[in-house]
Amino acid sequence: MTQTDTTLFGRIIRRELPADIVYEDDELIAFRDIAPQAPVHVLFVPKTPIATLNELTPEQAPVIGRLALAAANYAKEQGFAEAGYRIVMNCNDNGGQTVFQLHLHLLAGAPLGGFGEGR
Ligand code: AMP
Repeated sequence: MTQTDTTLFGRIIRRELPADIVYEDDELIAFRDIAPQAPVHVLFVPKTPIATLNELTPEQAPVIGRLALAAANYAKEQGFAEAGYRIVMNCNDNGGQTVFQLHLHLLAGAPLGGFGEGR
């Protein structure tokens, strides 16, 4: 990761901000969302700074697979993979993105309802 990443998540990766980290390897970090939308709500963030899905280059495409695989592995380890879960990636204003460092939400722990329900 370069030091140009000044987002909130970049600061968590550099340990400048505290977070409840549940997984980390050379390429990504995962920590609990500060405002959980489900009993389990974990964010998977690549260490390479990529602002939004729109900025993802073909060379960086494997990053998405690594985030998804890490989320699935976490679900298996934690014992809720069979019950099920949801992964979400928000992009820009209409997608509800608020932190401009690419990340994948893992939501689980209860039936999540219909997609976009209540809006
Ligand atoms: P998004 O809206 O898709 O950009 O997701 C950003 C997420 O980051 C939201 O669900 C926030 O609750 C979460 N968030 C913001 N600040 C923190 C923080 N310091 N630690 C953990 N999660 C955070």
